[in-house]
Amino acid sequence: MLLLIAGVASWWLVLARESRRVAQEESDRQTALLLREIDAHNATDAQLQRAKEAAEAANLAKSRFLTGMSHELRAPLNGILGYAQVLQRDPAMPLGRREAVEVILRSGRHLLGLIDGLLDISRIEAGKLRLERTECVFPAFLDQIVRLMRPQAEDKGLRFECVVQSRLPDIVHVDEKRLRQVLINLLSNAVKYTDSGRVRLRVRYARELMQFDVEDTGPGIPAEDLERIFLPFERSWAGERQADTGTGLGLTVCRMLTHVMGGELQVQSTVGEGSHFGLKLFLPEVRMLSGDPHVPGVVLGYRGAPRRLLVVDDQVAHRRLLRDMLEPLGFHVDEALDGEACLAAVAAQVPDLVLLDVTMPGLDGWAVRAALYARQPQLPVIMVSATVATLDAAAVAGTTRFVAKPVMLPELLLRIGQCLNVEWITEPAGELAPLQDTPATLDIVLERDDADALLELGAMGYVKGVLVKLDEIQARLPRAAPLTAHLRTLAAGFRLKEYQQVLKRHVRHAQAPE
Ligand code: ADP
Repeated sequence: MLLLIAGVASWWLVLARESRRVAQEESDRQTALLLREIDAHNATDAQLQRAKEAAEAANLAKSRFLTGMSHELRAPLNGILGYAQVLQRDPAMPLGRREAVEVILRSGRHLLGLIDGLLDISRIEAGKLRLERTECVFPAFLDQIVRLMRPQAEDKGLRFECVVQSRLPDIVHVDEKRLRQVLINLLSNAVKYTDSGRVRLRVRYARELMQFDVEDTGPGIPAEDLERIFLPFERSWAGERQADTGTGLGLTVCRMLTHVMGGELQVQSTVGEGSHFGLKLFLPEVRMLSGDPHVPGVVLGYRGAPRRLLVVDDQVAHRRLLRDMLEPLGFHVDEALDGEACLAAVAAQVPDLVLLDVTMPGLDGWAVRAALYARQPQLPVIMVSATVATLDAAAVAGTTRFVAKPVMLPELLLRIGQCLNVEWITEPAGELAPLQDTPATLDIVLERDDADALLELGAMGYVKGVLVKLDEIQARLPRAAPLTAHLRTLAAGFRLKEYQQVLKRHVRHAQAPE
């Protein structure tokens, strides 16, 4: 029995060792195969990497070449275009040569368009185009585009319509320059290729998505060309039969820019009926201007002759507020307490700009604006309104500048700057360290009502009001003098953010009921 058991055991051992050996061999073989595969992959990887680097280097070289070339071409072009304009205005120029100068100008402009288009494309391809997003006052932006395009369409005998189909945001975050470039390109194409009928710009906004539709009653684009026209230098038949052809880069740049901005550009068209370009963009709404990109630093005044403003508001406090905000900057401010008084004041002396309240007894702001427009079409008017519904109406009207109440000084100055084209004198904001609490101010607390009033005046940018309120608090609470002095320094220096921060540290919090 023992012999038998020993025999079976040793046979079992032999078999086990044999199978382990076979398994080991198989595993070694597979490992060797795997290692060979990994080596092959590594080699392919390295090759791919080298190819990618070579392609990137080539792309970079191309971009650098294009950028360099564009700059080089632009300099002589400046001379050509500049002197062509000089010659165009020269009375000594023989009549027969004027047309030749026109041709030089037109060709020069075409070349400039090409250079700009190529530069844009190479910048986008090289990933070098940086979007400069700022807070854009959207109705004013739209207004500007309509003002630019309407005369071009009407000169060609086309009707130009701007239809706003929903509430529009007051301020959006966007690269204004690039959005303007895309819209103007689409609208210019619509005007250029349409011989009769109308060009329409429709705008609607929902859930932070802005949809622009540019529709025309032009020749249309055949279905087989709908994708091709977005490629550089590709034209559809409307482009080919046009005597004054464009650069052929417009739509290419438009689509690329739209993609960079994270949007979509689509086209639909029916030959003989017209085309419809749809631009969809994500444009987040900004509730309040945080700072003003167009009016840097603190505005101290403006250059040039004094400007005369007329403030129309039925509430004396509001008129006074605007006067106090604007007179220190050098504006001459007149007041009118209602629509009739405004019209009478304008009849007596035309101001440079009217700041017009919307809700007033008797003639409301819109009626006054219409009457002003009928008499003085050139007179700029800024609507000042407190209700969102009015802002919508303003947006629908399409051509109105407005400022929301409570009036924020930077926004107001931005609009005034747009209307009057004034050059501001500013004090650079500078990097000032926030004022720290001193032992004298550390444990001074203000009553809730006082603090709220100061916070509100500060939020409105109404520094004069802040100073008056601080004087009043100091007279009542002499103990608070170090704090009021501290706040006065901040407010007088227009350091309103720090002013708010300091103020919030010194408010008496309501005691919890026992
Ligand atoms: P171009 O400088 O030639 O206008 P674009 O890239 O802007 O270049 O447009 C490419 C082509 O698309 C045009 O040549 C034209 O054939 C066609 N196209 C663009 N917009 C319209 C339009 N609104 N109606 C008809 N054709 C259009």
